[in-house]
Amino acid sequence: MIMAAAKKAARLFPERESIGILMDSKYVIKSLTTNLKTNEDRGYIGIENKELLNLTPLLTTGHQGNQMNEEADLLARTGSEKDYPGQMNLEVNNISHTSGAKLQALDQATAYRGIREAKLAKAKHKRERMKPVITIIQDHMKDSTGIAPNEGQIWGTTKNKDFPRQIRFFLWMATHDAYKIGKYWTTTIGGKYTEWSLCTHCNDMIEDMLHILTSCQTPGQAEIWELAKELWTKKGHKWRQPWIGDILACGTRIIKNDEGETQHGDMRFWRILVAESAYLIWKIHCMRVIQDGNQPISQTETMNERLDLDRKMTQNRYSKRATKTRVVLKTWRGVLQNEHELPKNWIDSSGVLVDSDLHTHRENR
Ligand SMILES: [Zn+2]
Repeated sequence: MIMAAAKKAARLFPERESIGILMDSKYVIKSLTTNLKTNEDRGYIGIENKELLNLTPLLTTGHQGNQMNEEADLLARTGSEKDYPGQMNLEVNNISHTSGAKLQALDQATAYRGIREAKLAKAKHKRERMKPVITIIQDHMKDSTGIAPNEGQIWGTTKNKDFPRQIRFFLWMATHDAYKIGKYWTTTIGGKYTEWSLCTHCNDMIEDMLHILTSCQTPGQAEIWELAKELWTKKGHKWRQPWIGDILACGTRIIKNDEGETQHGDMRFWRILVAESAYLIWKIHCMRVIQDGNQPISQTETMNERLDLDRKMTQNRYSKRATKTRVVLKTWRGVLQNEHELPKNWIDSSGVLVDSDLHTHRENR
């Protein structure tokens, strides 16, 4: 946290400029002073926040009534009591102070770790190739909300803890354009499989993520968005069919009421609704493609399962990591069956369901 704060502060100054930061964390100060030589010898392998290590620390002892310290503590306390984590930009500058490790200072484990770090950095570099998808997302979000999220926020979305693991993976893959669909087949193996890039249902349209999630005529896509629309309108919001960019960046969407107050419950419901809907359409697509099973998939079931999970996550056994009750109540407000008959705090009542007049969608191949 202190490193992140220092990093944020450092960003306010030009690169490579010496700045002083007043802090009371012995750990951080130590890594900037006494451990500096060892860190440099091992080429910063395994050391986080390398880019911060050109800071010049000024020592202050404990809190002892230092006014700035007390104020920083107060801010930190207020932050930790928030229901919703703020958006933090942790992107690192390209500037790095590592010029390699001294071989004699390395043991084997550290060396291997260094190789792994280098590989990860390379993978990160590959993201550069994905610029077009990021640009599409930014354009769509700008059009639908007036605000284009930055790249860090878009990647942050794919890790949002409101999404189950498989949805985080799906969003990450789709944002990387890494699924073997659409144009992938026109460029692979000398275009030998070009016909695989086309949707067999939709008059030879390129079957990319945009097509599958927002315009394919096969059963599923339109019905699922129709139900999403129904639920979203129940929340008192206007609906516009999400474009691919709205879907992939659903976690960055900020919703305010007429008074300009941020609606955290509605924002959370939006990202759950859009991500679950998109993932369901994708799952149906995959099942159709691999001709596997004939399980019925219903969006109402999906959303009810998610509601159930939310209720369970508020329970005490998850202790500190438990989702807060008021967050869950706000998220689902307005979209529940017989909501006016439910107790004010319905978290512990079993059988709470999402309200829908639409017939559930059944996949029929
Ligand atoms: Zn299609």
